[in-house]
Amino acid sequence: MIDSHTHTFYSKHAVGSVDEVVRSALERGIGVLTLTDHAPFHVDSRNRLLVSELDSYLEDIERARSAYRGDITILRGLEFDYLPGSYESTARMLARHDLDFAIGSIHYVPMNGHDMVKVWELGRLNDPAVLERYFASLDELLECGLFDAVGHADTLVRGVPEPVICSYMEPLAAAFARHGIAFELNASGLRKTTLDPLLGQETETGWSFPSRVLMPMLIEAGASFTIGSDAHAPGDVGRGLQSMIDALVPLGLRTVSYFEERRRIDVDAASLTAPASDPAEARAAS
Ligand SMILES: [Zn+2]
Ligand SMILES: [Zn+2]
Repeated sequence: MIDSHTHTFYSKHAVGSVDEVVRSALERGIGVLTLTDHAPFHVDSRNRLLVSELDSYLEDIERARSAYRGDITILRGLEFDYLPGSYESTARMLARHDLDFAIGSIHYVPMNGHDMVKVWELGRLNDPAVLERYFASLDELLECGLFDAVGHADTLVRGVPEPVICSYMEPLAAAFARHGIAFELNASGLRKTTLDPLLGQETETGWSFPSRVLMPMLIEAGASFTIGSDAHAPGDVGRGLQSMIDALVPLGLRTVSYFEERRRIDVDAASLTAPASDPAEARAAS
């Protein structure tokens, strides 16, 4: 199994050291693990790496690579926030540090003035003005040439009907293949809430994203896909990946990719297994 999206305490709102995340990955049958802590970002510096911590983050990863060599492939990644205007600072960080994998994610949608809609403010998402800004940012992110994958591009389905998201995504679908940026299948969506439009409440549905409605369109458009648990604690490393693969292969998912030294490596999706990646499922099955 591959897990290309994991966080450690360096992200501040996540727990666990690099070593703890790696050991959890080993226990769960992950063969290729990428650490992708949140890169420094001025809008929310309390929930991100600090510039002054980047070296020690990468040193921790380097130490784990030597300690577990032969047991697991450990890769150096960062999850960058994409905001219009963030190009320069991101390009500088990418030039200064050797990474295997760079995710670009939109967590903040800039509206008028200082207003920023956060993608977890589900009640604000189903608004044409927000959707237009979000997808305009996504278009720029795809065009900017800095990233290997877009993180949870379909997270807005938590608050917006899937057909609406589909209609906004359709004109951008070809850009994933054209610019060689992968679409991330983020398994944290299996444990995230969805806004019930009638009740106006967030409910657990067992699957909010990745959007299964989008899959045929993205596959048809030649997109490549990365997969990640988006774990914010060692206990969540690998979580949901097996269920997600099992559900998406029948929809046409053939290949899953990961990145090493910023180069894409493709793996047959149906060959990915991790018997222990879902502790709850493993318990249910035994
Ligand atoms: Zn994210
Ligand atoms: Zn993340």
